[in-house]
Amino acid sequence: MRFRKDRVNFGDEEEYFAYLRDLMVSEQIEARGIKDKRVLEAMREVPRHLFVPSSLKERAYDDTPLSIGEGQTISQPYMVALMTELLRLQGDEKVLEVGTGSGYQAAILAKLAKYVYTVERIPLLADEAKKRLDELGVNNVQIVVGDGSRGLPQHSPYQGIIVTAGAPRVPEVLIEQLAEGGRLVIPVGSSSLQMLTVVEKERDKLTTREEGTCIFVPLVGKYGWQE
Ligand code: SAM
Repeated sequence: MRFRKDRVNFGDEEEYFAYLRDLMVSEQIEARGIKDKRVLEAMREVPRHLFVPSSLKERAYDDTPLSIGEGQTISQPYMVALMTELLRLQGDEKVLEVGTGSGYQAAILAKLAKYVYTVERIPLLADEAKKRLDELGVNNVQIVVGDGSRGLPQHSPYQGIIVTAGAPRVPEVLIEQLAEGGRLVIPVGSSSLQMLTVVEKERDKLTTREEGTCIFVPLVGKYGWQE
């Protein structure tokens, strides 16, 4: 047996990573209060180790964000689960993600919503993410290169919008692109610490609540931080 961990032998590498994935879900995600069964199932299924540089594969299921190059990161597994749960997806939504990064969050969303548009400002990261999603046969995600702080008006409105980079304030354009009954999940604050913020749009009335602090790389763009 080539793969052995916690006194368990594994037939192959995929079996080994599936084991690490189960541990990740039970110890980092369920243990911290994530309850949505569909979110837990998606986190058990998507092979996170294929979304990190090969040198970091062994650490893919650790309780931490990891570097993906270009000064950017794949978010901590718990943060991916929490932000996804906050969207309260049922399966028939059109979702916008701002900050494709590795494509991991988009792959999770693809299992939980009908269609996902995701915007990335760094072309190399967008290319790599597209290759990964194609290889995994994910066919309900479109990656767009551009400034996602402006949203993606041509496909709006969205029942869910998730911003995976820290913004100085909630961009008004993202609220405009939110459907009635839709939710926007976005880290808002300084460049070093943000508050995970949820905005709900109900009969044109907005409700905003805060879900705790978080640390994201900056949202760089017209309605984010200046370069
Ligand atoms: N969701 C990603 C994943 O699953 O790997 C992690 C995202 S990473 C924390 C933040 C990403 O947002 C980076 O890839 C960064 O280049 C991107 N970003 C920053 N500002 C952006 C903008 N205005 N539009 C689109 N992407 C942006």
